[in-house]
Amino acid sequence: MTAVTWTGKRVTVAGLGVSGIPAARVLRGLGAHVTVVNDGDDERSRAQATELEALGVTVRLGDGATLTEGTELIVTAPGWKPDKPLFLAAAEAGVEIWGDVELAWRLRGPDAAPWLAVTGTNGKTTTVRMLASILEAAGLRTAAVGNIGVSLLDAVLGDEKYDVLAVELSSYQLHWAPSLRAHSAAVLNLAPDHLDWHGSMEAYAADKGRIYQGNQVACVYNAADPATEDLVREADVEEGCRAIGFTLGPPAPSQLGVVDGILVDRAFVTNRQKNAQELAEVADVNPPAPHNIANALAAAALARAYGVEPAAVRDGLRAFRPDAHRIEHVADVAGVAYIDDSKATNTHAAEASLAAYDPIVWIAGGLAKGATFDELVEKSAKRLRGVVLIGADRELIREALARHAPEVPVVDLDRTDTGAMSAAVREAARLARPGDTVLMAPACASMDMYTNYNKRGEAFADAVRELAAERD
Ligand code: ADP
Repeated sequence: MTAVTWTGKRVTVAGLGVSGIPAARVLRGLGAHVTVVNDGDDERSRAQATELEALGVTVRLGDGATLTEGTELIVTAPGWKPDKPLFLAAAEAGVEIWGDVELAWRLRGPDAAPWLAVTGTNGKTTTVRMLASILEAAGLRTAAVGNIGVSLLDAVLGDEKYDVLAVELSSYQLHWAPSLRAHSAAVLNLAPDHLDWHGSMEAYAADKGRIYQGNQVACVYNAADPATEDLVREADVEEGCRAIGFTLGPPAPSQLGVVDGILVDRAFVTNRQKNAQELAEVADVNPPAPHNIANALAAAALARAYGVEPAAVRDGLRAFRPDAHRIEHVADVAGVAYIDDSKATNTHAAEASLAAYDPIVWIAGGLAKGATFDELVEKSAKRLRGVVLIGADRELIREALARHAPEVPVVDLDRTDTGAMSAAVREAARLARPGDTVLMAPACASMDMYTNYNKRGEAFADAVRELAAERD
């Protein structure tokens, strides 16, 4: 779609938020007639509306349901559910619906940077940052963008010129991005999440699978998660595009994997039946927990698909620093390591970090979001020295522990106030022995006790530092 066709086009932007405001501005700048609709009508949205109105945008607050007469296109915030009345009306009227990613994809220039895209239930942000670090180490102009908090529209339309973009995409964004065609893409893993939004596991997987559509060079899948490979098989890709697996074991041809503590590439080498290329050491991955090595392999696969040399993979991984609250080592106190994995907001993420330590005193609980804990507890039971439970849905975890780990001591704090974390850390310290790890990987969302997972992680770190100060 060229800029010319935007003049006078009647576009409705659904949602006044991080994606809606830039979308409205850009479309107005291109000459479109823009109406923004928003469910909320609070002080903040009124102030935002005034700013947009000054640019000639129409804003309807408190009414995100009705389709504006004459709308030719809807550009929606990714989180808006597909069964909203606005979208049902649009479908009936034959009006196309794009998300923020689709808009950025369509507006990118003729010699725009290709996208290396990443999705998955867990590990997206980490992998995209690792990828950007590797691409930088290779001397490429790049940025980590998308669901990571950096607008794709800015990246695509801004003054900065990029060689290649490392793009994190959520399942919502993929749902609304029908024509996206990445250079190469990875689905890291697939576990039930956001099912209330997508309607079913099948629909969730299908939306994730869109990331492979039209890939040019590589579709990267997780050899330990067959559902990701199924999505590659179902994808319609460019001729010559290859399926590349990553594995924590020795790699088969067309895979990246691990041999004797070395990350090796048996995909982007000449004669892959016989040859393998050393990329980096496991110790170069920060932290070298199994799931994070998987993230590093996925990032390496995408970088190699783009033609990055092995030395840059190693340098990029070494330079990478994980974001806060993702398996973050806070302190050692009395020979016990205290790890903050507040970002483990679902059971799949918590399972990964519980697999990385042994023995563990586990601090868990919060808002379960409809999850069940039997599988998680069953898989982790052998590693648990003890468990401290906090938060609204701790009962669910306690019941799972009673069923699958009855011998593990459990302290149920029966508290949801913000001070509970300090008590939880003290209880954990009491249960732990030297050499153990106290792991706060709650497997639940934080909003019952904290504004977000950052605040929960900070509360944990503060409590650990308090404990350390007392013991010194
Ligand atoms: P996302 O962007 O997908 O939410 P993050 O990189 O922010 O992922 O990591 C979120 C949490 O998921 C981390 O705290 C960690 O516990 C867990 N995690 C990270 N990578 C993986 C993985 N490959 N598999 C399972 N869990 C993971």
